[in-house]
Order: sequence, then C-alpha cells, then structure tokens
Amino acid sequence: MTIPVFDGHNDLLLALATGGTTVALVRDGGGPTQIDAPKAQAGGLAGGLFALWAWDEDEDFGPLEGASYDPPLPGALDEGAALRRVIAEVAEFRALAAAGVIRPCVTAAEIEAALPGEAMAAVLHLEGADCIDPEFRALHVLHALGLRSMGLVWSRKTRWAEGVPFRFPSGPDTGPGLTEEGRALVREAGTLGIALDLSHLNEKGCDDVAALTGKPLIASHSCAHALAPHARNLTDRQLDQIAETGGLVGLNFARAFLSPDGQMGADVRLETVIRHLDHLLEHLGEGGVALGSDFDGAQVPEEIGDAAGLPALIGAMERAGYGEALIRRIAHGNWVDVLRRTWGA
Ligand code: ZN
Repeated sequence: MTIPVFDGHNDLLLALATGGTTVALVRDGGGPTQIDAPKAQAGGLAGGLFALWAWDEDEDFGPLEGASYDPPLPGALDEGAALRRVIAEVAEFRALAAAGVIRPCVTAAEIEAALPGEAMAAVLHLEGADCIDPEFRALHVLHALGLRSMGLVWSRKTRWAEGVPFRFPSGPDTGPGLTEEGRALVREAGTLGIALDLSHLNEKGCDDVAALTGKPLIASHSCAHALAPHARNLTDRQLDQIAETGGLVGLNFARAFLSPDGQMGADVRLETVIRHLDHLLEHLGEGGVALGSDFDGAQVPEEIGDAAGLPALIGAMERAGYGEALIRRIAHGNWVDVLRRTWGA
C-alpha cells in the first residue's frame, strides 16, 4: 500500500545550492540525493518542509562517533553571508517549482490539494534565523516569497537564541533561553503567521517559545531522548509540553539521534524507528506524531535509504499493528492538521 508522505524536514535545497546536484537531475533522477522526483514517486513522498539553511564552510563538526562526543557549539554567522546562502536556496526552490518537481504551498488546503499530484507539495522553511536582521526586513521579504515555517536557530549561537550542540550523551538543557531580540522575533513570526519550529533549540529556548506563543508547539525533525540520550532529542517533559498545546513532533531518521549509542554509523533497524514512534505516540497521542526524515541532511537507516524506501517504514508500521487510519495521520494527516491550526487556513 502506498500512502502519501508529507515530511517535516529535508535539505535538498542545500544540495542544489552547493552544486551537489542539479534541478534536471532532481527532475529526471540519477543524481546522488535522497530525494528526487522518481524516488519521491516510487516511495510516495508527496511533499514536505524544504529547509533553507546557512552555513560556514570553515566549520567542521566532525563525525558523531565515539563513546561520547561534544563538538564545540559554533558561533553566530555573519548576517549578510547567511542571507546570500539563503537567497541561493530560495532560487533553487523556485527553479524546482518551474521544473514541475514541487508545488509551493502556503495553506493547508493547498497542501491537501497537491498531495495526490505528481509535484511535491512544498513549504518553504528557514532552519535558523541567522539571515534575519533585527528590523525583520529579510523576514518580511522571505514571507512574501512563501516562507511559512522557521526555527529560530540551527545548532549554533545566534542573536536570537542558542541551539543545542551535537553532544552525546547529554540532555537538551545546554544554555540560555531567548534574548529580548529573540522574543521580538517570535512575536513578529506570530504576526506574519509563520510556524515556529523547536528542533535544534535548547531546552530553555523551547520553554521561552512555549510561554510566548499560543500556537501548537512543533518540532519538525526530532527523536525521543528517553530512547537515545542525545542533546538533539526531546525529553519526556518536552513531549508532554508539546502534547498540551496540541502540537506535533516529526520523527528524525538520522541514525545518530535514533540509536541508543548516538553513533552516526550505527546499524539502526526499522524496529528502532518503530520504538521511537511508539514512545512519541505514548506522550503525544495519535494526533501529535509525524515524520521529519532529514533526507539529504543525515545518514538514515539502510532499510529506508532514501525517499524510495518510505514504503519499508510504512510496512514496519503495519507489522507493528498500526491501523491504516493511524498510518495516514503519521504519514501526512497530522502535519496538514497542525499547519492548518497554526496558519488558520
Ligand atoms: Zn536540522
């Protein structure tokens, strides 16, 4: 059974902007990315949040391996340099749309209408507000270009807040909460109707966002800390906090966050993925669990491999006794619902 998947996180735009692939290869297949149009068709990947992400090529985070690891938390990016990176990725997003690979969406109704189609329903997401100026001009321009979801931080320090380091083992309470400017950005995003993403934010920052927004809390690509004690994962207290707001967690497929030993190269089986889904379901209920693959940004379990492998995960859900209605909610329904409640359309 192919069930359409709307997924909470991918880094395909980064691969395009850095020359790792081309729009033609993504359209026709045969390229190196975990997502392309033929793989998406084969696996039922019907859409998702497409991340804009800025980086500094001099930074090296090293392999996430060893009994414990704790790479230093990178400092703030230059705002102008970050904006140039993000503009390049927005241009790739628009080129994918022009090529018919994606259909940009700014409402839940548009996502629902696009899900059965050939082009992937695509929501523009900003993973870290490094490119945003304190007057929010860039935020307004990106909103006009279709931005409807944003994380305040990636795993680094910013003027707004602090991300969690890629530390293992560790809880997510690793630093200070939002700055005054960060609080203002949360309010501005709320005014514009941009969903806020908690993945990569440290625990104090998550608490601050929870206190500031009346919207459902969303973590687009995160796993359960109770099963894998990585700083990037969400504790049971955080899951319960998200549940109280009618929010959602998209399960990250990254092996380093799924595996109890935190290893990037770990042999993570589908049973482990199901264990995380079971744990999320226990805390968030059937309306609060979804997927956030991190395709083209992470090493994922071999049994999934890439977008074409999504039916293997759906099959594992079936074998675990998940009924079709629940699988449809996890695969796409819960994302559509939470975005509708967040955006109001
Ligand atoms: Zn991420």
